[in-house]
Amino acid sequence: MYQINNTGWIEVITGPMYCGKSEELIRRLRRVEIARQKAHVFKPVIDNRYSNKDVVSHNGERIEAIPVNHPEEILQRIDKNTEVVGIDEVQFFSNGIISICEQLADEGKRVIVAGLDRDFRGEPFGPVPELLARAEYVDKLHAICVKCGELASRTQRLIDGEPASYDDPVIMVGAEEVYEARCRKCHEVKN
Ligand code: ADP
Ligand code: ZN
Repeated sequence: MYQINNTGWIEVITGPMYCGKSEELIRRLRRVEIARQKAHVFKPVIDNRYSNKDVVSHNGERIEAIPVNHPEEILQRIDKNTEVVGIDEVQFFSNGIISICEQLADEGKRVIVAGLDRDFRGEPFGPVPELLARAEYVDKLHAICVKCGELASRTQRLIDGEPASYDDPVIMVGAEEVYEARCRKCHEVKN
């Protein structure tokens, strides 16, 4: 990557579930550590997939993160010496996260965000589309479709083994649900 040197910027790492977003975020943040740059990593409280306090990838890599309820809390937790701000599962934040990312980049910080580009319906997810438009760098990663082995760009939601309906809420607490990576052809949404 031909890198900007004397201002901040926004990097977005996106794609469906299992495409390696957390893995890639962790990889970039490890290199930040090696460069002895001061970093803070955040995640929304809603994501407690494996751990409340860490960013954890599906292959078991982890890095410490600060869980926050609202985007504004990120500003309270950093200081003027913070050089890098990492944010995982950014799709679960309100649109307030967009101006926070812009502000941090304007202040000269490197802002690395990772999150789903689409919800289970295949529709753009929360603040991610606008972050993609505003970012200096974008990486769209692919998973492997569990049905056919093609590159997967979508996240399939299954409720009791059946494709979820379009009208099912994006966040459904307590249901027996599973998510898997699928390609455009194999992705199914019930009407
Ligand atoms: P994300 O943050 O995008 O959900 P992770 O970084 O947590 O992804 O996990 C990526 C890892 O998930 C891969 O390196 C691989 O080991 C594992 N994995 C499991 N299922 C799949 C799949 N269908 N396609 C690709 N990787 C998968
Ligand atoms: Zn497929």
